Amino acid sequence: MPKMRAMVLDRPKTPLVLREQPVPQPAAGQALIAIEACGVCRTDLHVVDGELPNPKLPIVPGHEIVGRVTTLGPGVRNFALGARVGVPWLGEACGVCPYCRSGRENLCDAPVFTGYTRDGGYATHALANTRFSFALPEELDAAETAPLLCAGLIGWRSYRMAGQGEALGLYGFGAAAHILAQVAIWQGRRVFAFTRSDDTASQDFARSLGAVWAGGSDEMPPEKLDAAIIFAPVGALVPAALAVVKKGGRVVCGGIHMSDIPSFPYRLLWEERELLSVANLTHRDAYEFLAIAPRVGIKMQVTRYPLDQANAALDDLRQGRFEGAAVLVP
Ligand SMILES: [Zn+2]
Ligand SMILES: [Zn+2]
Repeated sequence: MPKMRAMVLDRPKTPLVLREQPVPQPAAGQALIAIEACGVCRTDLHVVDGELPNPKLPIVPGHEIVGRVTTLGPGVRNFALGARVGVPWLGEACGVCPYCRSGRENLCDAPVFTGYTRDGGYATHALANTRFSFALPEELDAAETAPLLCAGLIGWRSYRMAGQGEALGLYGFGAAAHILAQVAIWQGRRVFAFTRSDDTASQDFARSLGAVWAGGSDEMPPEKLDAAIIFAPVGALVPAALAVVKKGGRVVCGGIHMSDIPSFPYRLLWEERELLSVANLTHRDAYEFLAIAPRVGIKMQVTRYPLDQANAALDDLRQGRFEGAAVLVP
């Protein structure tokens, strides 16, 4: 029986373990993917740290997969053998709940999440539902494309939710923000990057990408903003962001997990400021973003790690040791 390699989480708060296991066979509607690259997302840290409820255990994390179809399950017609595909966080939705039927499959009542409730991409192979996978161009570099599958797609949904305003704040200048900053600047918007006050490396990185201002999240930007997106998992940033948006401005929480939000005076929300969260992604987000990304010419800053160095990649992400995104290359 052919074998694959995977980095497996047996229990939250323990290191991933390298395992050899049989290559799974695709069921109806699925494809077996030979993985070329898989991005390391902050959500993976939340899975490993036990901050998200009820993961499948043991679980192979990873939901920013770029690879090729090597085996097709019964009934698959939308991909051919050898096709290059991207597999995102939303691995499957039920198709029949009220959310799915209204084009909001991101809120599905019975979803499957890649690398959380189905084995993901920290491996040489993974199964994927082809209706929730996306065709990718041949010419793209796999490692530079992988972060688009979550930081890009869910980042794009957050960006869309932030509205059309010209002055956009980004809290937490990691993988998603470094992609979105390039999209926003390409669209003629002004980007304001907020980081930990002592993180001058990320502030310099943001300015190098064209941010008009970068500073600590405890600082006031030189002008009031139309909207802000919070990617850092820090609840205290919610009142901080509300304090820097204009009347009618919007604050979008783009992460899946956040520490508690401290209480704040109603005046920060008053004057029709809005606060909302973004959950998961829809097909529409993927089609829109994968169409716009090549036009923007996004320059992806990636740090590559071999598969068996996944724990080091997660630790480096936790400690903020690189700019941009980490990617595992099996
Ligand atoms: Zn559903
Ligand atoms: Zn993610």
